[in-house]
Amino acid sequence: MKKLATRAGIVAPSLTLAITAQANKLKAQGVDIVGFTAGEPDFKTPEYIVNAAKEALDKGFTKYTPASGTAELKTAICNKLKRENGLSFTADRIVVSNGAKQSLYNVMQILVDEGDEVLVIAPYWLTYPELIKLNGGVPVIVEAKAENGFIPQIGDIEKAITSKTKAIIINSPNNPTGAVYSEEDIKAIAELCKKYDLWIVADEIYEKLVYNGKKHFSIAGVSEDAYSRTFVVNGMSKAYAMTGWRIGYVAAPTAEAAKAMGSIQSHQTSNPNSVAQYASVRALSEGEDIISGMVEVFAKRRELMLSKFEGIKYVKPVASDGAFYIMVNVEELFGKEICGSVVNSAMELSTVLIEKANVAVIPGECFGADKYIRLSYSLAEDKIVTGVERIGAVINKLK
Ligand code: PLP
Repeated sequence: MKKLATRAGIVAPSLTLAITAQANKLKAQGVDIVGFTAGEPDFKTPEYIVNAAKEALDKGFTKYTPASGTAELKTAICNKLKRENGLSFTADRIVVSNGAKQSLYNVMQILVDEGDEVLVIAPYWLTYPELIKLNGGVPVIVEAKAENGFIPQIGDIEKAITSKTKAIIINSPNNPTGAVYSEEDIKAIAELCKKYDLWIVADEIYEKLVYNGKKHFSIAGVSEDAYSRTFVVNGMSKAYAMTGWRIGYVAAPTAEAAKAMGSIQSHQTSNPNSVAQYASVRALSEGEDIISGMVEVFAKRRELMLSKFEGIKYVKPVASDGAFYIMVNVEELFGKEICGSVVNSAMELSTVLIEKANVAVIPGECFGADKYIRLSYSLAEDKIVTGVERIGAVINKLK
């Protein structure tokens, strides 16, 4: 047999799968697992959005749409970007895709040539390096340290720039750290991108999930220059509890770039789901009070989770102000014997936690953050209490 293409071997398998498989196995055996692994809101999609989808079905809005999205949705996205982010876009610069993940893939397709380097800030969403590699690029990792609130230092980014650097991906509010970049952080990154002529890919999917009075800043809004080099990526999944509907979008710096992404998509997946597009128009046009109600619930859960960690030895949660994740430093546990197993990595700790405490967490190795585990607070308060107490019960026993 001839070999499979090189591409078949370059993408890393998802480390989260091992934990999820273990959790599912135990659940099937009737074990009550508290899962802190969710990457999606646990809320139902708000009713006004569901009703819009029903309306679409009743109307027979079930056919192909233009590959890059309907005119109505593009207009609703332009209105949203103007109203909420102060950004002016025209419909010919918007591409609607099957989730922000495809939007990011499309951006990488048109930006990255073989060997081009793309800067990724660690801890990172595990898909970024793989999307870069899939397009022949080289992910160059810049570490953002916990002591800086997981905000990358400009000097560290600058050191990583070479003649091959094409773009930087920034993600604020951040998955997995929850970090929210301040206006100054954002401006400094924009200045650097101007200096080195880099494209900016701004993944703003968690923009509405910010707490403690923090504000989200869109990098495209900080200067004319930043506006002209930024691909703004966003979508319906996180803010509107619409993960399964698969609608994401990119607002491109030029109509030419949007056209190229639309053409690529037209040969790959064609249009995103017509009913979901119809419902997304409604989602973006109404219901802000419902969304802010969800944000309030997340804010309370975040406080609760942080407070429950207070009495646990050796582990240090890093408080941050966005998304629905908390990173917990577990370095001090390495080398210790926990429930009969010596734990030397976050991955090993995650295995022990699921087997002995019946709590599922994501090991930091998935995000380029080996000393951490990630806990999502997208679950009910009583589960947060039970789950963190279970972790405490296992760890507080240690000498
Ligand atoms: N960007 C980040 C940082 C994410 O965490 C996710 C989903 O987990 C996405 C993008 C993709 O979202 P979707 O494809 O559901 O729109």
